[in-house]
Amino acid sequence: MSVNKLLVAGAGQMGAGIVQVSAVAGLDVVMIDVADEFIERGMAGIEKGLGRMVERGRMEGAARDAALARITTSTDMAVGAGADLFVEAAPEVVEIKAGLFARAAVILRDDAIIATNTSSLSVTKLAAFVTNPARFVGIHFFNPVPAMALVEVVKGSATSDETVAAARAYAETVGKTPITVSDSPGFVVNRILFPMINEAARAFAEGVAGAADIDTGMKLGTNWPMGPLALADLVGLDTTKAILETLERELGDASYRPAEILGELVAAGKSGRKSGAGFFDYSR
Ligand code: NAD
Repeated sequence: MSVNKLLVAGAGQMGAGIVQVSAVAGLDVVMIDVADEFIERGMAGIEKGLGRMVERGRMEGAARDAALARITTSTDMAVGAGADLFVEAAPEVVEIKAGLFARAAVILRDDAIIATNTSSLSVTKLAAFVTNPARFVGIHFFNPVPAMALVEVVKGSATSDETVAAARAYAETVGKTPITVSDSPGFVVNRILFPMINEAARAFAEGVAGAADIDTGMKLGTNWPMGPLALADLVGLDTTKAILETLERELGDASYRPAEILGELVAAGKSGRKSGAGFFDYSR
């Protein structure tokens, strides 16, 4: 099935980004959240993002206006009842997501696809909350959505091949490159990325090199656009630690155990960019 109408739950960092790229690609989008203030914040972010594209000459003013006109917002999910695809981008809390999937399964057509943008929860387990798990799939965007080219399409144990094909086609429609991934902790990118960040943190703690030298080494030695310690600061050291703990627990492998330094920095109030300091200082 081809996706023309989209329903997105959550107007936060990820949801608003998904709405933005979908509206720009010509889809009719309904964006819902629990309160008007969150919807307004999400819309302000989308307007700012599209405004920047117009300023940089990457989009006509008329195209921006047309994209914005394709977005409807509400606190009532029923407004999106005609959607071909539902993308859930609510907080990483099973109970919240479960409620949204149960409601989506009731209000949407039987053949509509139900997707989650989860970073760490099992797609197979979340599929248990919908009536027909064959139509349930992970569509994992990267942050910030408008800038990042990848989408991981995550196949749960019951996800049908048709659903995977439709999710991949949707990702391509919104200008992304999809990869198909089995439901497994961290999927592909986070499973490989976070142990590398963890190793950089360990090397720093052992005094192998200073933070700036470790990052310069990985930037110039492997062509990473950003060093692993600066990336950890951007993600947040609390989130980095939580992702590693999930990988360690779910994969049953102690090699994923977070480096002690991550917990020490978080305990010292240095959770990365958002708190003004982490491996690097952002106060100036
Ligand atoms: P966020 O906190 O920025 O946004 C979540 C939004 O969901 C908030 O606006 C909140 O008000 C809203 N919300 C809460 N309950 C809701 C409900 N019942 N119905 C509708 N909306 C509701 O979070 P985020 O960073 O956008 O993350 C959203 C999802 O995307 C999570 O599952 C996260 O794991 C995943 N994800 C995040 C990133 C990232 O880098 N932030 C990357 C990939 C995937």
